[in-house]
Amino acid sequence: MSKKIFSEILFGVLIILFGTLIYFDTSPSIYGFPVPKSLGGFLIILGFFWVFYALLNKKKLITTWKKAKEVESIWICPQCLKPEYRQDNPDLKCRVCHTNLEDLDGFYERNPELKENKKI
Ligand SMILES: [Zn+2]
Repeated sequence: MSKKIFSEILFGVLIILFGTLIYFDTSPSIYGFPVPKSLGGFLIILGFFWVFYALLNKKKLITTWKKAKEVESIWICPQCLKPEYRQDNPDLKCRVCHTNLEDLDGFYERNPELKENKKI
């Protein structure tokens, strides 16, 4: 869990705690000013929404990042050594020799003998 999301959730929890304190206080006040109990209830709900949205955004961020990574990934034909974007070739088969493409990420580490003809 990243630091930012952690502090956002912590902030939400603090709002909930603060709201709870006001809500269960017999004569709630902030800095000596009396406040209505409903403010406590409002803060509790606000805190829950805050935490909920923090978690929701986190999930959205991960999905977006994963999609971006998938679209950007480059694959390569081990025969022709022709690189292609995954999005341009969803079958992941070489258009020339119909060999299965391989993920370029780590390709030359898995096939060190091909390094001499390295084109990309
Ligand atoms: Zn090929």
